[in-house]
Amino acid sequence: RVAVQDLVKRFGPVNAVDHVSLEVSSGEFLALLGPSGSGKTTILMAIAGFEYPDEGRILIGDEDITWAPPNRRNLGMVFQRYTLFPHMSVLENIAFPLKMRGIGRAEREERARAALATVRLGQMGDRRPAQLSGGQQQRVAIARAIVYQPRVLLMDEPLSALDKNLREEMQIEIKHLQREIGITVIFVTHDQTEALTMADRVAVLDHGRLQQLGAPRDLYEAPETVFVAGFIGETN
Ligand code: ATP
Repeated sequence: RVAVQDLVKRFGPVNAVDHVSLEVSSGEFLALLGPSGSGKTTILMAIAGFEYPDEGRILIGDEDITWAPPNRRNLGMVFQRYTLFPHMSVLENIAFPLKMRGIGRAEREERARAALATVRLGQMGDRRPAQLSGGQQQRVAIARAIVYQPRVLLMDEPLSALDKNLREEMQIEIKHLQREIGITVIFVTHDQTEALTMADRVAVLDHGRLQQLGAPRDLYEAPETVFVAGFIGETN
């Protein structure tokens, strides 16, 4: 379980996150959905530990991680632009987080191969990232994020650089993978259809405020604010 409690983050005069509270259950897929500048990334960065909040707390289980350094949070992360190391092979990229944790070579290789197989790229371990398509690179980024079995996977617009067909294919694949390994996911997107098709629940944000948190169907059938009605309605 991840709990964000009464989170506030200001950048000068801007209330990027304005008293947001939400909870994600273990194994759940939560989407943070909203237009540009609504505070989605800032919430994710606070959970990741790259931004510290002005007010509020973040818990994983019963542990208060609000002030813990990023590398102590046991989270996996995937961003829009796959940030693979170009000079390393695919397997070396995936094994890198294990190396940073001091895990020995044989175990690193075994676990990296297993993670690569999970994202269905078993044959591509020796390639360089530049020899893969955009979707394949993003799969490698996912394999790297899950190789040390994090408690939670944070994803910030991981598919928005891909073309439409590949994006839809990857939506299904990520969803499938998430169910298979039972990992908790918090997924940032500005794409209503993506959020509604992938997530168990969706948190709709506008101007740093949580507008509504509910199952896709609830948002669709019973929007609680004019903003939610308008924003979700745009999928039609
Ligand atoms: P996008 O989809 O465009 O990334 P978002 O919903 O993720 O938008 P945030 O990136 O969280 O929104 O930004 C929320 C608000 O905080 C915006 O007004 C943004 O300009 C501002 N902001 C975010 N990060 C910073 C920063 N490091 N310094 C100053 N202002 C910031």
